[in-house]
Formats: sequence, C-alpha cells, structure tokens
Amino acid sequence: MLLLPSRGKLYVVGIGPGKEELMTLKAKRAIEEADYIVGYQTYVDRISHLIEGKKVVTTPMRKELDRVKIALELAKEHVVALISGGDPSIYGILPLVIEYAVEKKVDVEIEAIPGVTAASAASSLLGSAISGDFAVVSLSDLLVPWSVVEKRLLYALSGDFVVAIYNPSSRRRKENFRKAMEIVRRFRGDAWVGVVRNAGREGQQVEIRRVSEVDEVDMNTILIVGNSETKVVDGKMFTPRGYSNKYNIGEKRRAERMGASTKGGMEVARRSEEILRSFYPEEGLRGDIIRRCIATTGDVTIKDVIRFVGDTEEGVRALRDGCRIIADVHMVRAGLRRDAIVAVDFARGDDTRTASGIRNLAEMIEGSLVAIGNSPSAAFALCEVAEKHPPRFIVATPVGFVNAAESKKMVRKLPVPSVTTEGPRGGSGICAAIVNCLIEHADRPD
Ligand code: SAH
Repeated sequence: MLLLPSRGKLYVVGIGPGKEELMTLKAKRAIEEADYIVGYQTYVDRISHLIEGKKVVTTPMRKELDRVKIALELAKEHVVALISGGDPSIYGILPLVIEYAVEKKVDVEIEAIPGVTAASAASSLLGSAISGDFAVVSLSDLLVPWSVVEKRLLYALSGDFVVAIYNPSSRRRKENFRKAMEIVRRFRGDAWVGVVRNAGREGQQVEIRRVSEVDEVDMNTILIVGNSETKVVDGKMFTPRGYSNKYNIGEKRRAERMGASTKGGMEVARRSEEILRSFYPEEGLRGDIIRRCIATTGDVTIKDVIRFVGDTEEGVRALRDGCRIIADVHMVRAGLRRDAIVAVDFARGDDTRTASGIRNLAEMIEGSLVAIGNSPSAAFALCEVAEKHPPRFIVATPVGFVNAAESKKMVRKLPVPSVTTEGPRGGSGICAAIVNCLIEHADRPD
C-alpha cells in the first residue's frame, strides 16, 4: 500500500487566558503559519487581529468533537491551528484530538503548544496564591459524575493542597458551586479564597475573600482556595514555600495548645491531672502515656495491660523528625493531632481492607510511625511488611476477641519499639490517645 505523506499539519494552540501578551511566541508563530484557524468563536475573536486573511472555521460551544473532526480533516492538506483557551491540555481540546486521531488512525502530524493556564494567571494576579503543591478541580459534571468531583475536592482539601477550582459555575450548575463551597468550609474552615474573573482580559476582577463571603460567581471565574499556610498581607494572597515550621503546626493551633483555653477548661484539666497522678504517679513519657490511656477510657485497670517494648522515646524522636503516620482506619486518624495516611484508602484486591492497605503501603511504612487501633489483620500484615520495611515505631491496640491478642503479641516480638495493649482490650480511641501523647512530647520546646 502506498501511503502519501500528508502535506498538512495540525497545531493545537493554547492562546493563554486573555490578551496576546499572555500568549507564547511559539503559539503566535503557529497561528501565523496556519492557513486555517479552527476554534470556538470567543477564542477566535480574541486573536482576530492575528488572523486577517486566513480561512476561519468556528463551531458553537460544546461542539468540540465537530471542531476536532474538521481540524483533522483540513490538516491532511493544510496547516491548521486549532485554538484552545489557556492551555489545551487542561480542560481543553487536546485530549479529544489525541483520542480521536488515535482511534480513527488519522495520519496527520500533530503538535501541541502549551499556554498559560487560568490557575497560573490567577495565582500571580493574587500575589503568589499557589506557590507549592496544588490540586486542580473542575466543578463541571458534564464529563465526570458529581460524586467523583466531590471526592476529588475532598481529598485535595484533606491533603492540604492549595486548590484551583475551574468551571465553578454556569447557569445550570449553581447548585454544584454551593455544594463545593460547603465542602470547602467543612474541611478547611473559613479559608482564604482568591476569586479571579476574566484574568488577563477585558473586565478583569481580582478579589480576596473568605469562603463564607463568596456567593455567586460566573463561568469566567477561577477560584484559588488557600491551604493552612496561606496568608493575606497588604492585599496580596500568598502561600509561603515550605512550612512555617516543619511539624506543620499552624499558629492558631499552636496558640490553642499553649493554653488559650477558658478558665473553666483549665480548672477541669488541673483537677483531672491531679486525680490521674493519684492513680499513676510515675513521671516521664511512659507515665504520661498510661495516664492518657486511663483518662481516655475512664478505667484505671487499663494501666495493667499497656505494654512497652524497646525505647519509647524513639516514638517522640521519630515525630520530631517529622516522620509520617500511617493509621489503619479513619477513626484513628480522626483522633490524631497530626495528619495521617489511612491504610483502608489504599486497599486493593480481596484481602481484608486494612491488611491490603498496609501491604500496598509497604515502602512508605519504612521509617513511619504506624498506628493500628482497630484491625488485627492490619497488625498481622504489618508484622510481615516490617521484615523488609521496618517502621520506626508502632502503636498497636487492635481490639476484640478474634486475633486481637495474638496480633499484638506478634507485634511485641518485632525488633521495632512499640506500645501495645495485652489481651482483647484496646481500640481506636486508645491508639489515638497514645500517639497524641507522643506528639505532645515531640512538640514540646526542649
Ligand atoms: N484550558 C483552559 C481552561 C478551560 S475550562 C485553561 O487552561 O485555562 C474553562 C474554565 O477555566 C472557566 O470556567 C474558568 O474557571 C477558567 N478560566 C479560563 N480562562 C480564565 C480567565 N481568563 N480568567 C478566569 N478564569 C478562567
């Protein structure tokens, strides 16, 4: 079969967020070189001064596939620039081009030209809103079901990413935006939000607000939700690079911990401490851990089942070094004063969910503090994984009458320092209490 090389070429061009000045030189050259310009009317209008004398094909919004077909067809014979706003590979037309060309085996040379995406334009207009790790979520549920959008937003927030929100609203989707803001409020409190409308083009508006102050926005708007480190100073929203201290304790949380509580609360704490000391007077870390367990359970006899193996201070040192915490279940994570990775979220296959999660996190377990409060099978899995990937410290208090006691016995035999409970007693609450006690010691100024 004789295949004639096509003479044409398809450029998929990101033209940036607005005016020509935010377009790359390469994008401009591709447009100049093109015989045909294909795009959505609004984008084509934005570059009208660059395309005089060229043949232009526009299609209505939402007719992306038509645009792709036309562009690829024309590109068999001609040089074509398919125009996309911002960056073509970020909620743009590029994936459609690639998918279609591959599926239909279209023999056309394709070159994608990146552009300044809305998040990047908005971040600079606000100050330096993004700065470090960030996640991007589109609230449009045209191509992705809302349940997925919601879940990704949730995880981005729980990972403390700065979150850029694209496609926040349209006439039909006001409800989604309201729901999204509710999720943000629930998981990030009244965080700072940069609201940027028409970045880099006519009608540009830049505002910095609190989540509770954001009401309606339109589809020409992008939002950047700040994380726990984001600050607003002199009208600029910025997220410093790196943490304000390496243990990730925000100023507010630290103030709360240093006794910024009510008089009544302090009195209760003092009396409680007095009573606990009468039950168990031993000083130092181990004494504190046991008093914590008594306080959490309201049960003095718990002190008889707490077991320490190895150097308990190693747990404090590990946390001071900023080691990661891996918990078996969400209930443990919820009780902790630092964030943790939860094994059940990483379950695959048909093992019990926590055991599978622990195995899948094997490499990450090495050097971590592992907190198992619920699941004996997670504790067994940990014992296997620990041979190759030893954690730095283990708190294991799985609870119940099936395997709990045996699993903890096995943990005590590992060459890793640990705190466990003997027998069936334990649970997520005790587990979190023990880890929190280690965290408090780690956070104490020397
Ligand atoms: N490919 C584009 C995004 C297309 S999705 C890019 O990389 O930027 C469309 C969404 O992007 C809009 O709903 C809006 O949230 C955001 N957006 C695009 N251009 C913008 C601009 N100039 N100002 C503010 N938001 C913009």
